[in-house]
Amino acid sequence: MSQPLIPPFGAPVHLRDYDPDYLDGSSKKDAKKDLKKKLAAAMEADQQRLDMLQEALYAEGKHALLIVLQGMDTSGKDGTIRHVFSSVDPQGVQVTSFKVPTADELARDFLWRIHRAVPPKGMIGIFNRSQYEDVLVVRVHNLVPESIWRERYDHINRFEEMLHEHGTTILKFFLHISKAEQKKRLTERRDTPEKQWKFSLGDLKERAYWEDYQAAYEAVLTHCNTPYAPWHIVPANSKWYRNYIIARTVREALERLNPQFPTPEKGIESVEILD
Ligand code: AMP
Ligand code: MG
Repeated sequence: MSQPLIPPFGAPVHLRDYDPDYLDGSSKKDAKKDLKKKLAAAMEADQQRLDMLQEALYAEGKHALLIVLQGMDTSGKDGTIRHVFSSVDPQGVQVTSFKVPTADELARDFLWRIHRAVPPKGMIGIFNRSQYEDVLVVRVHNLVPESIWRERYDHINRFEEMLHEHGTTILKFFLHISKAEQKKRLTERRDTPEKQWKFSLGDLKERAYWEDYQAAYEAVLTHCNTPYAPWHIVPANSKWYRNYIIARTVREALERLNPQFPTPEKGIESVEILD
């Protein structure tokens, strides 16, 4: 059965309808190996193209691309950034990781720190967590009253629409993993010396709220999935499939923008370059 990457706009999203193990084509063991090889080649081609498209985006300087990454702990936000964008010129990409808000940030509206981090024209901006934390962790733990967080879906939609109208293409990715896959990854973190720094007891506490987070994500995917800033539900139990899907989606979005290198100044062909 095939499963949409972007859920239908305006319809309620139920995550149980989206399989985190989903792969294009057959999931039989042999087919999976073949698929992995095929997609690795496709991804390499996408990454090379991404590098070229990014350069043209920068040279043209008319549009910005904003990529939002959200997902449960261990869902692969950091891994996506490292693997998908490894081929792109670091000067053309700015990554912002949103943590627990500082006192300074809490003294402003929740979009203040977000707006400051939006990429300028010509740049690709990547958000590792985002404005959505203010309707996810905040909602799950009642960090503000419901009357406040309820309003935020609408605030976020209007904010994203404004960015879109001012030349920012927005792509949002929910990295969808299963609870069993998270257990596997947390166990690996606990048991691998190079990964232990990432293991926090806080993550275990959050894991206990798994169902509440799934419900909070369903609300986000239902209320804030718009044609101008669509959500992609990425099957993310398999890291290579996740990377392939995101590289392809970003590459396709840049192809649609079709950035052009500016025409050179008149007559430069005949300018003499003095010794
Ligand atoms: P990490 O991404 O693992 O570095 O963790 C960042 C932490 O910051 C996560 O536990 C997030 O839930 C938390 N965080 C990010 N944004 C907010 C926010 N607006 N309110 C409260 N906690 C947040
Ligand atoms: Mg973490």
